Amino acid sequence: MRSILVIGGGLAGTETALTLARTLPGDSVTLVTPWPRLRLVPNLVYVPFGIPGNQVDAPLGRMLESAGITVRDGSCTQVDPDSRIATLADGTTIPYDVLVACPGTTPAETDGLRLRTLEDAARIGETLAALDPQERPTILVRILGESTWSAPGVEFAQLAGAWVQARGWQDRVTVSLATSDRHAFPLFNIDAEDAVDAQLAHLGVEVAAGIPAGRIESLTGTVTIDFGWFTARTIDGLPRLDATGFHGVDAGGRIGIPDHYVVGDAASILFKSAFSAGWQARRVARSLDGDLSLLGPEVGGVPSEQCEYQMDMGDRTMVVRWPSAETLATPYDSMRATVDVVEGAPDKLRGLIVHDLLASGPDMAPAATFHTALEQLHQAGPAGR
Ligand SMILES: Cc1cc2nc3c(=O)[nH]c(=O)nc-3n(C[C@H](O)[C@H](O)[C@H](O)COP(=O)(O)OP(=O)(O)OC[C@H]3O[C@@H](n4cnc5c(N)ncnc54)[C@H](O)[C@@H]3O)c2cc1C
Repeated sequence: MRSILVIGGGLAGTETALTLARTLPGDSVTLVTPWPRLRLVPNLVYVPFGIPGNQVDAPLGRMLESAGITVRDGSCTQVDPDSRIATLADGTTIPYDVLVACPGTTPAETDGLRLRTLEDAARIGETLAALDPQERPTILVRILGESTWSAPGVEFAQLAGAWVQARGWQDRVTVSLATSDRHAFPLFNIDAEDAVDAQLAHLGVEVAAGIPAGRIESLTGTVTIDFGWFTARTIDGLPRLDATGFHGVDAGGRIGIPDHYVVGDAASILFKSAFSAGWQARRVARSLDGDLSLLGPEVGGVPSEQCEYQMDMGDRTMVVRWPSAETLATPYDSMRATVDVVEGAPDKLRGLIVHDLLASGPDMAPAATFHTALEQLHQAGPAGR
């Protein structure tokens, strides 16, 4: 029996621990986290528009312990890959055979608002609530030059556009998206690009694409919200970050030391997304000779050989699905993806084990709440707003 130690209780650490516990039933899995709850970061986008912050967290302990995973409270300050011992901030040591670090990232300082924490979301919410349409304000979403994954910013611009329209403010409040990418949404394939372009136009969001890196920071709005431009958190004892600021991983998720892996946003792959954490977890399981068939024919409502991403488009949802996510390196071109735009709110964590475990938990439907609130505003019309 190997002792597998997962560090970090974000979406990547949680999904990795669940995946390894299922596919390697002969091994033991322990997860170290400083916080007993799972922050559903993809749902943070709703909080600035009035969705309560408690809807973006789920209890972590019960979910993991029912899967046979041991949860240790603490923050890992150091690992010693030779002796295979991890040290926590309180001095406790944990021996391990296999280590999977999922520490996430920290954003660069900029002069715009950010959307990475609940406090960030509340700050943006206060700023939006204080907007006076008579002053003809601009909500500017900046996808910063070194962004590797623009989807949350593009999604947020659409939510802002839908929110402005639902209030009947579209003639007085401008929503703009600024990006150095050649296109508003250059991920996946041309169908996804076209679907997002059409929706941005439908919502009246102005797009400034192809802005040279370094110039975007000089653009400002009445409210300026920045996405992208972050680097991996690191832990003493792990190899140095690569030139791009992330933990270099090979096709099996390894970081150049036997039995040491990194999963999630901290890894040097271009997909900085929750759905890709599921696939990164699976490739670690495979590297450790895990039995992926134990995941069953479907994971989180998606056939287990497929990968799915859902983007909230404000008043509808884009669903992108592709046959295999194992090549996690190229989100930009030649992805054999099907793209559908469907009515209703997204179900953002489909394809993850976490998705199924949350479905039986407390109400985790901020997307649906947001869509319903906007529909009610539309129905109320100018008199009722
Ligand atoms: C606004 C926004 C919207 C998004 N929307 C979507 C979406 O719709 N769909 C999608 O697929 N993805 C989306 N993403 C991306 C997705 O949220 C991230 O890819 C995902 O949350 C990354 O998870 P992570 O566990 O790697 O990092 P994090 O969520 O940052 O978690 C890392 C965890 O590790 C802990 N940690 C760090 N260091 C240590 C240590 N030394 N010891 C112990 N614990 C430690 C931290 O406390 C934290 O809990 C969005 C991201 C943002 C910011």
